Amino acid sequence: MSNKLLDTLGRRNRSIADKTCESCGKQFRPSKEIQRACSRSCGYKIRKLTPYNKGKGKGWINAKGYREIKVNGIQYKEHRYIMEKHLGRKLLKSEDVHHVNGVKTDNRISNLKVLDHGEHTVITNNRPYKKGYKIKLTQKERNRRSDHMKEMRNKALENQ
Ligand SMILES: [Zn+2]
Repeated sequence: MSNKLLDTLGRRNRSIADKTCESCGKQFRPSKEIQRACSRSCGYKIRKLTPYNKGKGKGWINAKGYREIKVNGIQYKEHRYIMEKHLGRKLLKSEDVHHVNGVKTDNRISNLKVLDHGEHTVITNNRPYKKGYKIKLTQKERNRRSDHMKEMRNKALENQ
C-alpha cells in the first residue's frame, strides 16, 4: 500500500497533507511543503509585508520598484504613462524612460528623460554600484559576504 494521500479524484498520488492556513485558519491544499498560507494575501499577513498592490495613494510599486497605475482598466508603468502624456504620443518599444536622479518612484516630468534603450543600459550599468544594492559596500566587504554565502550554500548541500 502506497503512503501517498488521496487527491480530489480519489487517486493515491498526493504527498503533501492538507494544512491549516496560519493566517485565516482555513484548510487548504498546499502545492509545496513550505507553504504556510492559503493565499497570497494571507502570506503577506504572516510575513507582515505590505502587498505590492496596496501601497498608499494612487497606484502601487511593482516588484522592480517602479510605480504602476491603472487607467481605464489598463495597467501602465507610471513613468512611461506620464511621458506618453507629455509627448502626446505612444512610446516606442526601443525607448526607455530614464529617472534622472536614480529614484525609480520619482515620476515628476522634470526627473524623466526619454532615452534609446542602448543608451539607457550604458548609463544604469555605469553607476558606482548596481541597482538593487541598497547599501554601499566596499569591494572587500562584498567579497566577504559573497564567500560567506558560498560557504552557507556548501554546508546546506552537505547536510542534504
Ligand atoms: Zn488564509
